[in-house]
Amino acid sequence: MSLRSLKQLRKKIGFRLTVWYSGIFILSALFLFALAYFFLSSSLNKQDYEAIQLRLEELSALYQTGGRELLEREVTIEKKFEKKIPFFVRLAGRENKTLFLFIPYQWVEFDIKQLEKVPFNTTITWARLPGKNNRNVLEVASISLSNDYLLQVGKSTEDREKTLRHFREIFTAVMVPLILFGFAGGAFLAFRALRPIRHLISTVRSLGPGRMDARVPSLQTGDELDELATLFNGMLEKIETLINGMRDSLDNVAHDLRTPITRFRGTAEMALQSDQNPEICREALADCIEESERMLTMLNTLMDISEAVTGVMKLDLKSVNVSALIEGVAELYRYVAEDKGILVHTLASNDLYLTADPNRMRQVLANLLDNAIKYTPNGGRIDIEANHSGQKIVILVKDTGIGIHPEEVSRIWDRLYRCDQSRSQKGLGLGLSLVKAIVQAHKGQVKVFSEPGKGSTFTISLPSDDHLS
Ligand code: ADP
Repeated sequence: MSLRSLKQLRKKIGFRLTVWYSGIFILSALFLFALAYFFLSSSLNKQDYEAIQLRLEELSALYQTGGRELLEREVTIEKKFEKKIPFFVRLAGRENKTLFLFIPYQWVEFDIKQLEKVPFNTTITWARLPGKNNRNVLEVASISLSNDYLLQVGKSTEDREKTLRHFREIFTAVMVPLILFGFAGGAFLAFRALRPIRHLISTVRSLGPGRMDARVPSLQTGDELDELATLFNGMLEKIETLINGMRDSLDNVAHDLRTPITRFRGTAEMALQSDQNPEICREALADCIEESERMLTMLNTLMDISEAVTGVMKLDLKSVNVSALIEGVAELYRYVAEDKGILVHTLASNDLYLTADPNRMRQVLANLLDNAIKYTPNGGRIDIEANHSGQKIVILVKDTGIGIHPEEVSRIWDRLYRCDQSRSQKGLGLGLSLVKAIVQAHKGQVKVFSEPGKGSTFTISLPSDDHLS
């Protein structure tokens, strides 16, 4: 592997996680082995020291009972009948001269001359004699039996070392597969842990112009990465809706403006062909101004509808008193209604509140009231009412107008749709689309109940004050 690819590998989270996982696993295994080794070694140590001390005390007691002969006899008998005697025994006389010595055959390596330096002491004195090859040590406990004798009992660390060596060999044999297992386990864990991230990366890679439908598959683990995937999918959903909405809006605006622009152009061309008749030219110019104003209103309304539908409309949400809102709009239209002899009646309790953008809500009510006046014959009646219904506030705009044909009811919310019987009235066919879009942007609903010849009732239901998030 080249140095560059090794550097790149080091940057990968998967590799770093593998190293961390396996490192921690291997270090923990090492630590456990070291701990076990330490306890085993110190327990063997303790066992040896206790055995030496016990033997020393036994032999010392023998001496006290039967003197030097009994002590020597005991050791000699043991030497004869027991195959393996693990204790070294030395009895020294005055000036520490060796009187009796028993060295198990395998321990001849120790320089026992050094034991002659051990002082006579009534309490146990410990000495350590290193072997010739420095591997084993003879641990010796000495005690003076009387002023004349010094008894020394010892044991080589050979057995202990053998056990520990065996333990170390097992450890080395186990460690190699353990390290391999640690790496394999670490790599597996890292691979599993990074699965959601890999899904995320491949999803982001597959996104592109015109391709926003890819989603990160949810593993239903309920962990943070699963939550991230869900949030990411939610974000993609919103972006896709926004892009589709913007594309549709652009298509719609381009399509809807085509007719008025063609009309506008036709009027201008007609004026040009009118052989400089100033009267016709003036009329054409007036038509053009009127047409351009219609176009401007249309464009603004279309933009408002698009913004509301795609969710980018900025709503200045406030707590709005419904009664005051209705009164304000009714007041604006009272003169127009009076001109047609229409009675506008409002009914709303003063304690109804909405969380809404007051200007947008005014626009909604104004459109509904404007329609009601437009499509109600002279002498009719319009009722604007508001009331509480569960957690919603329902506003009704009821008229005694021409009504809407059942086949057309579902289409009146479409952009630019105008019912056959209302073509004589001025209008763009955008008012109800805007009403629906604004109400839905406030998380509300619109409905209409209508009977041709009898009248229509438009209903808006919106979450009351504290139910709009
Ligand atoms: P317009 O500019 O034509 O009023 P709208 O989008 O506001 O456009 O309304 C769409 C159509 O729904 C109207 O053309 C009309 O035919 C019908 N409409 C709306 N309100 C009423 C009403 N109160 N009574 C009868 N018909 C209505």
